[in-house]
Amino acid sequence: MKILRRYMHNRLGNFNYLIGCEETHQAIALDPLDGQQMLDLAQQQGWQIKLIINTHEHHDHIEGNPVVAAATGAPIWAHENALGNIPNQARGLKAGDLIELGSIRLKVLFTPGHTPVHLCLLAEADGHNAQPILFSGDTLFNACAGNCFNGGDVDTMYDSFVSQLMPLPDETLLYPGHDYMKNNLGFALSREPDNSDARCWQQAVADTEHDDMPVMTLGQERLYNPFLRLHSEKIRARLKQEFPHLGEGDRDVFKALRALRDQW
Ligand SMILES: [Zn+2]
Ligand SMILES: [Zn+2]
Repeated sequence: MKILRRYMHNRLGNFNYLIGCEETHQAIALDPLDGQQMLDLAQQQGWQIKLIINTHEHHDHIEGNPVVAAATGAPIWAHENALGNIPNQARGLKAGDLIELGSIRLKVLFTPGHTPVHLCLLAEADGHNAQPILFSGDTLFNACAGNCFNGGDVDTMYDSFVSQLMPLPDETLLYPGHDYMKNNLGFALSREPDNSDARCWQQAVADTEHDDMPVMTLGQERLYNPFLRLHSEKIRARLKQEFPHLGEGDRDVFKALRALRDQW
């Protein structure tokens, strides 16, 4: 399985992905925004796009569907709850479904919160992938969690983090739907000013172009992403300055962080 990640240079900073099987030269277009660019990329690789998958229904994750579908005949798959929200969706996926194309194996995780239909895709470690790979859409970003203000719900997002993402192993590679890493590291440091990992990565990527941003592991994210550090005493102590009545539960911490990030 080979992953091509392309930054879209749009205002929202989307990443588009082509996931290809190097044996059969078949590929999946994930969340295409610039459909023509994905077609050109597939052609350069000698790949045939056989499938389009959308993590969720927001326009910046589906806008390239028609161009890719018209040129390749690839069907559009997304979560079953998205049926009716994504034009020409051919199949409704649900949690646990296995998507197989050549040597590609992607497990569907149902991760609502950013929107009620959001899914993530997980390639587990096997003979083809040394490490698990997570395509996290707008749920988990480098150094942050997705927002919940366009049809989302923060309690549901927290539940998805706890049940679906937090249990994944440290070596899981993270491929998110947008590149917000630099800005998010700034937010992380505003919550934990003496977090040396956040500081280190902020310096490391300061001059890095979007297309060259590092692919992080969940283990690395756990060192600086505040939404994966809900137990941190320092994060909690600082939050209590803004939220004097903050509860003791991880959910309270997650929601307070998300509320602050909304205004960051
Ligand atoms: Zn979105
Ligand atoms: Zn998005």
